[in-house]
Amino acid sequence: MPVLNSKELRLVGFLCNWCSYGGADTAGVARAGQPTDLRIIRVPCSGRVNPLFVVKALLEGADGVLVSGCHPRDCHYAAGNFYARRRLEVLKRFLPVLGIDNARFEYAWVSASEGQRWQHVVTSFTKRIHAMGPAPHFNDAKPLLRVADMALTALRPLGTAQNAAVNELKQAIKDKLPELNCVIGWQQGYDGAHATPLFMKTPEDVDKLSWGPFNVMNPAVYLPLFKGKKTGVVVKGCDSRSVVELLQENLIKREDVLIFALPCEGTLDIARVNEKLGRYTRINAVAYDEAGVTITADGKEHRFCMNDFAQGKCYGCATPMAVLADTRLGEPHKVNPGSSVPPELAMLDDMALSERMAFWRGQMERCLRCYACRNACPMCVCRDYCVSDSRDPHWMSQDADIKQKLFFQTIHALHLSGRCTGCGECQRACPVGIPILALRQQIARAVAQLFDDYKAGLDPAALPPLLGYEAHEKNIHERDWK
Ligand code: SF4
Ligand code: SF4
Ligand code: SF4
Repeated sequence: MPVLNSKELRLVGFLCNWCSYGGADTAGVARAGQPTDLRIIRVPCSGRVNPLFVVKALLEGADGVLVSGCHPRDCHYAAGNFYARRRLEVLKRFLPVLGIDNARFEYAWVSASEGQRWQHVVTSFTKRIHAMGPAPHFNDAKPLLRVADMALTALRPLGTAQNAAVNELKQAIKDKLPELNCVIGWQQGYDGAHATPLFMKTPEDVDKLSWGPFNVMNPAVYLPLFKGKKTGVVVKGCDSRSVVELLQENLIKREDVLIFALPCEGTLDIARVNEKLGRYTRINAVAYDEAGVTITADGKEHRFCMNDFAQGKCYGCATPMAVLADTRLGEPHKVNPGSSVPPELAMLDDMALSERMAFWRGQMERCLRCYACRNACPMCVCRDYCVSDSRDPHWMSQDADIKQKLFFQTIHALHLSGRCTGCGECQRACPVGIPILALRQQIARAVAQLFDDYKAGLDPAALPPLLGYEAHEKNIHERDWK
């Protein structure tokens, strides 16, 4: 019966079998009038509602999505809705970064006896979506390509680690080498302006170890491959957070890993370095001083000052020294207090919702679906069984469609909720320079806001917030449907 006197919109409802579906039934039995826009999908529990269901529906053209389950403490499975509440609240704070108005998504608790409440919830939600009108579609957005302004002030001086205790580090590794399967670090790559992973098994290997602004890669990504074998790893501060997160999730064992650390003075944004170098056939020389690097390519000198060419994450880095290490060398840097919004996220914060949608449209058109972003991520550990490759259920098609590509990025970002350490490897590995780190940074910001400034990878004993719940959430409040 038409409670709302207008054209129907496409609303999707995920209702738990035990309470909200019963509530909708009760409303129907009582002949309580309801709008007819909502297409209901019955699920066992609100805890079964993967936030990706919501994103997929919204990307595929739904105008609104409603999730409803049993009231907290009434869950048929004891705690499904407690887990759902945390995930859905993070999702609500994530959607705007994609350019989707989060008022188009809502969750509510309705019990089987609350036919009247169900009528009220569904009518209010449908009215809200009708007031907003049909959702804008990604395919309709005019592609917008903007580059983040990187002029930022670092929380401490950035440099090239000219005085780093590298020789002491090499000696410390050599001393421990007989007890270890190997030690993972960096070495010079195919020229002086690139570094590649180094797997040290002999003292001669250790002599190849490099430390400096080209050590951008995160060696923690290899640790799960050595699970069960005692392995050493050399880390920058950000890498150490990935090691901690792997320990938190029991993906590696503390007794199997030996961590070597030096204070980090920052690493270069290789994408911007390459952009400035332009086309060249060979690097002739790389010279360092305290403030930056001079690269000579095809006989022409290019200067890269660390303050201008560091990776975005380095400007706001509060952990230049490893948060966990067995062997620490060198003097820790003093980090000035202050917060800084990462440049990619600050750029998106400045945009209107419609501009963000256009921004991702432009970026995803360039995505190659190479999945380098996933493969470089130290926390993306189910790579061989990734849902993006699943055929049953078939989450994604192989179409070169911006929605599929953005959905893949959303899978990665949401699966890393509360687990992403912000190492930036996903973005660094992207061959076409898509600023996908901003999606992870937005989730990290939401998690910090909701859960007492929680940051992933700082405490090996901590439980990532989305793997747990509180019966009374301090910062998550039930929506007022009055
Ligand atoms: S984020 Fe911090 S630890 Fe990591 S490379 Fe930058 S300055 Fe070094
Ligand atoms: S999602 Fe990106 S920033 Fe986060 S842990 Fe993975 S590679 Fe690092
Ligand atoms: S690395 Fe870049 S191009 Fe490749 S799938 Fe990820 S976003 Fe797309």
